[in-house]
Amino acid sequence: MEMRRLGRTKMIVSAIGMGGIPIQRVSESQASAVIETAVSYGINFIDTARAYSDSEAKIGRVLVRHREKLIIATKSMARNREDMKKEIERSLQDLKTDYIDLYQVHNVKDESSLEQVLAPDGALVALKEARELGKVRHIGITGHIPAVLVKAVRTGEFETVQFPFNPIETAGIEELLPLASQMDAGTIAMKPFAGGALKNKVLTLKFILEKGFATVIPGMDTPQQVEENILATEGRLLTEEDNEVLREEVSALEGNLCRRCEYCLPCSQGIDIPLVFLLDGYWTRYGLQEWAVEGYQPLRVKASECADCGECETRCPYGLPIREMLREAAGHLEKR
Ligand code: SF4
Ligand code: SF4
Repeated sequence: MEMRRLGRTKMIVSAIGMGGIPIQRVSESQASAVIETAVSYGINFIDTARAYSDSEAKIGRVLVRHREKLIIATKSMARNREDMKKEIERSLQDLKTDYIDLYQVHNVKDESSLEQVLAPDGALVALKEARELGKVRHIGITGHIPAVLVKAVRTGEFETVQFPFNPIETAGIEELLPLASQMDAGTIAMKPFAGGALKNKVLTLKFILEKGFATVIPGMDTPQQVEENILATEGRLLTEEDNEVLREEVSALEGNLCRRCEYCLPCSQGIDIPLVFLLDGYWTRYGLQEWAVEGYQPLRVKASECADCGECETRCPYGLPIREMLREAAGHLEKR
């Protein structure tokens, strides 16, 4: 396994890390088998979150056997000091450890969230206090909007930055990735397969690693997926033919893949358009129909409530036929 330095944290992480979303949906023993397989192949970086239901707890069961050699990253959506303090304690408890290597502020999606995090009673204060106490070793940030993350990285408060990156979602390449390199913030590529849309997995992971990320964290819930993903760090660099394969795959997806950039919002009816498409992706591409329908039910405004005003489509930089896509999503997620 190729190892890389995670920016100024100076932690040495496996180029292929493990994303902790999918193990939510498998049994405890299956989750343990996947994590043990990952460890046996030299994967030492595992990323999870408070928001991933029992993912931290499942990782914690294996972590007790390998604490010294594993680097655990987790994250919370808490935005103020008190809430973040509680979240850190819960993470320590669920992960069954007395320290967390990297604690990230999760999904900072706009400037007002970033301001809350950085405020005098914001989440960052709790993270710094936990770092002083040795409960957290390093502090990072995650999100989907490069412009917000650029502002965050520039503050110098975050030692790592995690954002979606893959052959079809390359928005971070112009400013965020070079800035992170300049400020020596460790880079973590999430959603490498664009929510299951990209099928050439090994080529996709190689593409991401060749852009200079410290680690990329595909979600894995079977030992076979671990074995497939680690092939990306072996063998040759991408050839011109490989790049052509990726370009063709991207152009086939381009007209109907939501990148969750949120430029289409706000919807005049209040539909959370990117979230509907994310859930529809789980329904159509992940074969997780029940899980997707369950996640869709709490949505205050449903896709079928689109009033057809078309405003969102004028704002989507990818020219997606949002209204048509919402009708399809409603057909999948609302039909029972
Ligand atoms: S077309 Fe539908 S989804 Fe788009 S802004 Fe109008 S109501 Fe919202
Ligand atoms: S529908 Fe378009 S604008 Fe809205 S989040 Fe998706 S890609 Fe971005």
